[in-house]
Amino acid sequence: MNSRELAFPPGKAVIFNGPGKPFEFIETALPEIKSGEVLVKTLYTTICGSDIHTYCGRRQEPPNVVLGHEIVGEILWIDRDHPATDQRGVALAPGDRVTWSIFAVPANVRAPRADIPQKSDQLFKYGHTLASGNDVFNGGLAEYCILRANTALIKIATTIPLKVAATISCAHATVAGALRVAGPIENRKVIVFGAGLLGLSCLAMCREAGASNITLIDTDASRLQWGKKFGADETCIFNSADAAITPPWPEADLVFDMTGQPDAMKAGIDSLALGGTAIWIGAAYPAKPVPVDAQKIVRKILTIKGLHNYNYQDFEYATAFIEHNYLTYPFEELVEKEFDLQQTEEAFKYASEHKPVRVGIKIN
Ligand SMILES: [Zn+2]
Repeated sequence: MNSRELAFPPGKAVIFNGPGKPFEFIETALPEIKSGEVLVKTLYTTICGSDIHTYCGRRQEPPNVVLGHEIVGEILWIDRDHPATDQRGVALAPGDRVTWSIFAVPANVRAPRADIPQKSDQLFKYGHTLASGNDVFNGGLAEYCILRANTALIKIATTIPLKVAATISCAHATVAGALRVAGPIENRKVIVFGAGLLGLSCLAMCREAGASNITLIDTDASRLQWGKKFGADETCIFNSADAAITPPWPEADLVFDMTGQPDAMKAGIDSLALGGTAIWIGAAYPAKPVPVDAQKIVRKILTIKGLHNYNYQDFEYATAFIEHNYLTYPFEELVEKEFDLQQTEEAFKYASEHKPVRVGIKIN
């Protein structure tokens, strides 16, 4: 027997075949583990906002895909060509609990820039890849996940709740990237648009990084209730009409947009103090253009920065942030409802209708 054909039982996977179509539940044998790969038993997956966008048809994915990219798991097997150390140089072994980067840069592909590996050619992304044959263990809604070579893994403690650990590899890592591109946070006034997991994580990270004042803005008053618990000094309700007038909240040095809504992004720019910076990370799906007053950008010496996904440094920052703060802020409460893998259909229906911050799927 080839040593890469492992004696693990077949695993279940849930395939998304397109908006409005029922999820397909399959059970299949593991494919051969390739050079440098790591086999993981998936423990828990949270459904990210972008999964919901795909489910509802606002975002295009391959025709058949195993969704879910906020995943936490336990190592079952490490291929002999893998260095068996994690991103922080810690030795890895079967039984270790791990989080991993949402992407893997293929071997022999060079990143366009060392600090932007997430934009490499032929990039592989968990939860975004065509499922075919038994090559289905590449997203969070399956019992196994095969981690490609060059995936950044980080070993984490089993004391971090699974609900919280799962969210590191998308939401928190992306927010860590947003703080990196924002520059120094200490003593800065901050506004965060969007009280989803990205926004709430951003409040907590900015609070821990020494922001002097933090305002959370959202259209949904029930979401704003989380603000104070995650470090906001004040919360404000947003009406689209605010986009046309002088904003009713104080000016800020840094404005983070997690919404992707053109009206909110415009209001964000209008909220910037002299020399301020807007950081946009929410606009990862098509929307109408943002009306930007160029004269305002020039005369107030403003900067707009965008970020999609994150790099390895951000992933390490986010993991350390959660390790230090998972008890300081009630991240666990943000996974408002939990389902089993076989309840995936109900989970997506619930998430799209009730809009909780997250729903979680218990896998193993
Ligand atoms: Zn995501």
